[in-house]
Amino acid sequence: MGKLDGRVVLITGAARGQGEQEARLFRAEGARVAVADVLDEQGQALAEEIGALYVHLDVGTEDGWREAVGAVRQAYGRIDGLVNNAGILRFNALVDTPLEEFMQVVQVNQVGCFLGMKTVAPQMADGGTIVNTASYTALTGMAAVGTYAATKHAVLGLTRVAALELAGRRIRVNAVCPGAIDTAMSNPARLDPDADPEEMSRALDELYRKLVPLGRVGQPEEVARLALFLTSEDSSYITGQPFVIDGGWLAGVSVI
Ligand code: NAD
Repeated sequence: MGKLDGRVVLITGAARGQGEQEARLFRAEGARVAVADVLDEQGQALAEEIGALYVHLDVGTEDGWREAVGAVRQAYGRIDGLVNNAGILRFNALVDTPLEEFMQVVQVNQVGCFLGMKTVAPQMADGGTIVNTASYTALTGMAAVGTYAATKHAVLGLTRVAALELAGRRIRVNAVCPGAIDTAMSNPARLDPDADPEEMSRALDELYRKLVPLGRVGQPEEVARLALFLTSEDSSYITGQPFVIDGGWLAGVSVI
């Protein structure tokens, strides 16, 4: 028996990184999975490999959501779970951030999460689950990523409100709040064919050895296991909560 037997789950930004690992794990646990992304080639290849459905979806577009949910319902007849995972990051000091860049991050991270819940929840079976991907920076500040942090704080606010509004249909809504995770977002060498991502991973580990109590960067598979917990019956009495997965980074500071 898999933990998600019989359930249909749509995962955004699932062509790579944390979303990819969620898609792999959810399939292994018996779910029928829709891999949604703008990276069509990668998403399609993953979907074929694991026996999932690929849907092209730019999460910032309302029409895109309508079409993606229609395709999932046509293929699988229902939808029980949503993981709003797609996200982008831009580095800039607040005072140097062009409005266009600010709005671009809002459109994907915040509007994407809002549209996902708005479109999917009415189509979702009672007792469904929504997992929103926030961040460590939903709960604290971080210099140079102000736009990103603002959107992730917003994702947490949306999560809490949706949990209250959807509880009557037993739809549970929670947020994962990862710290530093070794994906292309924090390790761009993973996207450079000439770079050695393992070398970059070692450099990240070296950096986080000093910053993070557990002394290393996190792995996307670890976030996937948390998303599985929040999507399965194992979390049946939990809704409206942020789940920090950061190796202890937010616990506080060590002075000696
Ligand atoms: P990633 O860059 O590897 O994956 C992000 C995915 O989102 C990609 O597949 C990308 O194509 C997709 N995407 C981007 N814009 C999209 C759009 N408009 N529509 C649909 N898909 C889109 O990085 P990741 O670490 O796997 O990121 C997953 C989530 O985790 C993001 O929400 C990110 O903000 C969050 N997060 C990441 C970290 C980290 O350190 N990696 C930490 C905290 C939170």
